Formats: sequence, C-alpha cells, structure tokens
Amino acid sequence: MGEIYKENFSFSLTKMNNALTVDLEDWYHICGVEELSDASEWHTYESRIIKSTAKVLNMLRDYNVKATFFVLGYIASKEPGLIREIKDDGHEIASHGYFHRRIFELTKEEFEDDIVRSIDVISSITNKKVLGFRAPEWSIRPNTFWALESLRKNGILYDSSMVPLTRMGDRRFPVNPSPIKTKYGDIMEFPLTTARFFRENIPFSGGLPLRMAPYFYILSKIKRMNREGRSGMVYIHPWEFDRQKQKIDLPLSRRFMHYFNIRVTPKKVRGLLEHLPFAPVKEVLGL
Ligand SMILES: [Zn+2]
Repeated sequence: MGEIYKENFSFSLTKMNNALTVDLEDWYHICGVEELSDASEWHTYESRIIKSTAKVLNMLRDYNVKATFFVLGYIASKEPGLIREIKDDGHEIASHGYFHRRIFELTKEEFEDDIVRSIDVISSITNKKVLGFRAPEWSIRPNTFWALESLRKNGILYDSSMVPLTRMGDRRFPVNPSPIKTKYGDIMEFPLTTARFFRENIPFSGGLPLRMAPYFYILSKIKRMNREGRSGMVYIHPWEFDRQKQKIDLPLSRRFMHYFNIRVTPKKVRGLLEHLPFAPVKEVLGL
C-alpha cells in the first residue's frame, strides 16, 4: 500500500510543463515577400541574429528556462558558434528548414532536400539527432500533409507546424499534442496553441496574437489548460526582441504582422516565464 501511495504521490508531483519554442531566424526571413525571397541576396543584409539571440538567451538564463530552438539551416551554417552556445545553455536544437521556404511552395523532392540539408548541418554542430521540426509560417496544410511522412522518413519524431485555424491550417487539425500515423511510423504533432472562442479556434501564444491579446488573458488561458492536464506552447522569434528598426519596405499587411506593437513582446514573455512552467518540446512530449 505504501508503495502504491508513493507511486501516486510522485505521479501527482510530475510537473505540468508548457513548451517554449524559439524560431531561430534573422529579421529578413519573412515569407511571402518577393524581394526577400532570394537566398543568394541574404548576405547583403545586416545580420542581427547574434545580437537578437543574445537577448533571448539572457532572458532564458534569468528565469532558468530551457526551450526548443527551431533553427534555420542557413543560420546554422553561417553561425555554428551561436548554435553551440544555445546547445551549451541546455536548450534543444530542432529544425526550421534550411532556406525558410513554405512547404506549399516546394515539391516533395525540394522539401526533402531542404530538411535533409538542415538536419545535416544542425546535427554536425550539435552531435545530436534532430528530433523536431517546425515549418516556416506553419505551412502544413491539408494539401501539404505529405510532409509529415517525409519528416518521419528522415528521423523527425515530432512536428510543430499545424494550426487548427479556419484561415491558415485547417480547423479539423488537432488542438492538443497527438500522434499521426505515417508509413514510416508515428510522428507526434504539437500544434499551435489556441483557445475556443464561439465556434472558432483563436491563437494567442506568440507573434501578433500574443502582442494583441491582454497579458492576463494569455496567462489565465494557459493556467487553465494546465489545470485540465493540457500543455500549451509559446513561440517567439529573436527579431521580436530587437529594437532596431529595419529599413525595408514591407507590404502593409506584412509590416503589421511583423512589427505591430512589437515592444510588448519581451515584457509579456518575461511575465509568462515567471508564472508558468516551461520546458523544451521533446521533454513535454516525453521523447
Ligand atoms: Zn520562420
């Protein structure tokens, strides 16, 4: 009886964790903007990745929180020292693809080349297997669902690219972490965290939605999810921690999405780190 009690007791102490994720890309990695899409021009832009990532790493040190960094292969090949620094801080290193291309812009072969190239460069730096992937702009859609099979085939055990929204992914996509079958085995999906609002799923835990949602709404929603035994996921980008304004003419909708109210991100994220438990995705999923 004592044994059983102990087991139950330790189980109840198991910490409910949320996933903290960082998409490691520079300020000019913006999907859907023609003049920024040519990777052979990227070296002509000012690189701010070291400075902006330092701010993120310092913040994580302040709260002693470990995260998953979805690293762009392009950045890893340019800045291997930065990837080593992130790894040495105890964070998980996963893949955000190589050239930051949305999956629906690629053929299956092009997508596989891109992810294999990113996995190779990342694992050669970290000496660890790359277990996770996030597609640029959450671009797993019903018509790019085949990507999950390509990922699993190349050793990826979890994906975090699906959004259960009407306008972006698909509202039938899972709202909680779920296994998805492929012919190479199951792959875990950790979808974008959303809240149910009338009949729609509404995002609030990163990017523009995090900047627009009131802080206490975000905090109480995730706390409530945790009480229900569900993990939430917060996502950030280093460029959201960089005050330097870039001199680039973005289309109005992109400028709004990327820069509207950007100064509130660090403050809100610090609040969440102080009041909620976070861990890398692989830990939250028990991989
Ligand atoms: Zn991205």
